[in-house]
Amino acid sequence: MLEVASLRRPSASLGAMPEGHPAIDTADTARERAIGHEAGPLLIAGAPGTGKTELLARRLGRLAATGTRPESVLTIASRQATAGRLRERCEALLEGSFEELWIGSWDAIGERLLREHSEEAGLEPFFDVLGRAERLAMLLDRLDRLPLRRHEIRGNPAGLLARLLARIDGLKAERVGPTTLSERAQAEASAAVDEAGREAARRELEFAELYATHDRVLSESGSLDRGDVFLALDCLLIERPDVRRRIAERFGQVMVDELEETTPAQRAVLESLAGEDPNQVVALEIDAGEGSAAAEAWFDAVHPGGERILLEDRFRDPKLGFWRCTNERAQAQAVARAVEHLVASGTAAEEICVLVDDPAKQGGAVAAAMEERGIPFHLSGPTALFQRPEVRDAIAWLRVLADPDDSPAAARALTRPPVELRSGDLARLTTIARRRKQDMVAACEAALDSPQFQPEARERIGTFLRLYNAAAAVMEERRADVFVRRLIEQVGLRRQRLFAAQPEVAQRLLGLSRLAELATACTRREPHGLTRAFVAYLSAVAEAGTGDEDAEQPRSPGAVNGMAAGAVKGLGFDHVFVLDLEEGEWERIGWPARSGLVLSRLTRGAGGEAARPSRFYERALEAAAADGATEELHEEEMFGPAEGLHATYRALREQVLEASWRAGRELSEPRLDTAIDVNRAIARYLELLKLAALAQRPGDEPTAEAIEAVNGLLRQVATPEQQAELDASSLDAYLLDSERERGRRLDLVAAREEPSLAAFLPRRGDGKLSLSASDLSLYLTCPLKYKFARVFGIPQEPTINQRFGILFHNVLERFHKEPPENPEEGLRVLNRLFEAGWRRTGFGSTDDELQFRDRAREALRLYWENERESEGEPVWLEKKFDFKVGDHHVRGRVDRVDRLPDGDYELIDYKTGERKSEEDLDDDLQLALYRMAAREAWGIESSTGSYYYVLDGDKVVAPTKPDDAERVERTVLQVGEGILGQDFEPRPSPTVCSWCDYRLICPAAEA
Ligand code: SF4
Repeated sequence: MLEVASLRRPSASLGAMPEGHPAIDTADTARERAIGHEAGPLLIAGAPGTGKTELLARRLGRLAATGTRPESVLTIASRQATAGRLRERCEALLEGSFEELWIGSWDAIGERLLREHSEEAGLEPFFDVLGRAERLAMLLDRLDRLPLRRHEIRGNPAGLLARLLARIDGLKAERVGPTTLSERAQAEASAAVDEAGREAARRELEFAELYATHDRVLSESGSLDRGDVFLALDCLLIERPDVRRRIAERFGQVMVDELEETTPAQRAVLESLAGEDPNQVVALEIDAGEGSAAAEAWFDAVHPGGERILLEDRFRDPKLGFWRCTNERAQAQAVARAVEHLVASGTAAEEICVLVDDPAKQGGAVAAAMEERGIPFHLSGPTALFQRPEVRDAIAWLRVLADPDDSPAAARALTRPPVELRSGDLARLTTIARRRKQDMVAACEAALDSPQFQPEARERIGTFLRLYNAAAAVMEERRADVFVRRLIEQVGLRRQRLFAAQPEVAQRLLGLSRLAELATACTRREPHGLTRAFVAYLSAVAEAGTGDEDAEQPRSPGAVNGMAAGAVKGLGFDHVFVLDLEEGEWERIGWPARSGLVLSRLTRGAGGEAARPSRFYERALEAAAADGATEELHEEEMFGPAEGLHATYRALREQVLEASWRAGRELSEPRLDTAIDVNRAIARYLELLKLAALAQRPGDEPTAEAIEAVNGLLRQVATPEQQAELDASSLDAYLLDSERERGRRLDLVAAREEPSLAAFLPRRGDGKLSLSASDLSLYLTCPLKYKFARVFGIPQEPTINQRFGILFHNVLERFHKEPPENPEEGLRVLNRLFEAGWRRTGFGSTDDELQFRDRAREALRLYWENERESEGEPVWLEKKFDFKVGDHHVRGRVDRVDRLPDGDYELIDYKTGERKSEEDLDDDLQLALYRMAAREAWGIESSTGSYYYVLDGDKVVAPTKPDDAERVERTVLQVGEGILGQDFEPRPSPTVCSWCDYRLICPAAEA
């Protein structure tokens, strides 16, 4: 843990670390004692960064030098990273020859020991140890047989099962099995005093049943999970004293690093071995919360009277920084900006690390900000695999092959290499698909004969169809692993990256082979499983954020590291940025920074509410304030990096290389569009020249004028085709963005001969832009999401939550349109309408669906109770409006309009999803817009607006403010301007992106 007290400079230092390893001061007797310790138990305790791991490595070196065989020292660390570092140091320190060292993470050592003694443990010799993703797949395969009636699924069984698996893992680490859990739940049920307590106990019993089912499924497949490994080892060592003795004799010395990270199950194994031989040296981080206390208590109990050494001097003394950021994007941009400066001033990118709570959620925003500046960034973590562009390309192909209705997947496969369909042509395709109610593949077939598409576009669509049909023809016949490898080769996903001169190329190729390995593991589990099953598995684990947690995650040379805070312990970097961590997470970080450590926090929480800094942050800032530290404020840069020219130059340089490589390939095998690719490559090069000229221009001529001047010169050298490419490029607009010269940018875009997506913007018959309240909110949330949904109009299958919401709206509309004559019949009619709608809309009887039905029944009862007491009289249902703000049409419909006893009106919006926070309600746009619509379109001067959370039976009135109309007008004009200016910059944020249907195609969601 980062200790607040130690955030002040240490009073004494043992000197600079040569290449990251602490120089051991020979005068330091504590350290010498630790290194020279020969026998008996020893606890080495110290704060993070005091060199405990190094001491263990040196002790192994000393033991070897005094005659102990190095391979007879069992050395265990909690993580692969620390184990790797230990091994590296030991191998460097050992002189002379040795057999394979027994140094590894708990998982690796535990599995190795159990495999060597599998027969004595009563296990199959070739048992598999399955990771969480594979177990999730096994459970999803058996979803209809799992006891989940009392656990809320909410349309996301993979997410629920991933959480339950995490709990099972936690229980196994604590040595609590399903039988014990079930007994506890039964006792709780007997002791419960009310229905809530009884229901909680019933849910716990159901969970115990699920836990037992999980173990049974594993055992039937001859597999274990990681928790089982230590439970099995523990049993073996207790029940077979001969085995215990043999292991203890083999390893005369045991060393354990990061004892605070060990689980009770792992400590039980250590305890059994200690019974035979007490030569155990353990390193413990002090003040790492409950983990430290439990581990220390364990040592005292197992080794009473064991020796103790306390290390006090810290080797790392980074300069501290404190950031307060207005949102995630502001935070990510600030990190990217600081990283760019560090790299420019000579820090190696791989010596920089960005720590986030959850890479799957927060990594995307950082990756996007790094991408904007052309900084290579390598994100690791369980779901990092699914954020890599090549892996996402492969998944897009797999998904559209498994389901041609999967439009986002089709859109990605069409717009990425090797097809690279242009935006305008994609918009034409989605229009065909929507109008003809076809899937995207069928729309591609239709496009081949459509005069709307230029020959070049038809050629690209033809390439897609050729690849698609060839793969589809063999998909059902081949095993998943064979098919995936073949697809990767056939689509050319590996080849496309080979030339890219970036350090992440190796990572990306590794990602593709990891995907193929996952397919192999899937085939091993289900030898007759089809590729479709593998695709379902991939989608589920990517959704659940339970991916590749077992895969080795090597550092990426030349790239900045991004990782989960929990994964950094034991590693060291020159500069570390710690982003918005929860209080408890600080305990798991250790002391990873050598030169600079920035602690950053957000001023708003996930729901938009004002967020307080964590207690740790406050204390750290307070402590550092004595040395003059203050908080820096970082706000979002709306239009990309301020120092954009240099960053853009670097990014474009890579594009030029790729474009020329592609054009070169075309030249060697001329095709219909070879000239297009060659001209495009030359145009990119001319743009590179333009950037170089702008970046080096003397004086302070405004960017717009400088661009005009350079464009004039380029026009003299470019051919008409190259000029057309230059005209179609958005580079000028982007550059103007960076100077926030919004007006000039719009002029420039408007002056283009053919704005690429202008024809696809949603307009009314008079050619004016058409905007609804949800369009406004969509654009404000993320302009790129708006583009995918409204400009491209990529068709989407509604989720179970959306289908449920539509059904509920329909039921209430029908009910109020034809209210029962006998008011006593109200609830019965509501239920009848709901049941009829339920059947007609194709809902079934899975646990998930039945849970929705239960909630609906209760919600209808609450609705009816409220309705009987309501003073309002519904006068309009689904009432439409259309009025103008500036040049734009604003349209929409209000779910229900009530006339109140005082003659006023209440505009009601039904909600079946998340509630709005107080802050959101304060800034609410939707109901303010409805009130304005009521006045402008229906002539109702005075009205209130309410959100009706029908599942909770709760209606909340949104506050009315004097500047509401002005605010709505301003927002409509701003959004309209952004859309007409084709400003579709992504605004990634964990809360929004995790629910976005377009994650697969979104470049901001990849790393
Ligand atoms: S994933 Fe969706 S919400 Fe997130 S940045 Fe991309 S388009 Fe926007």
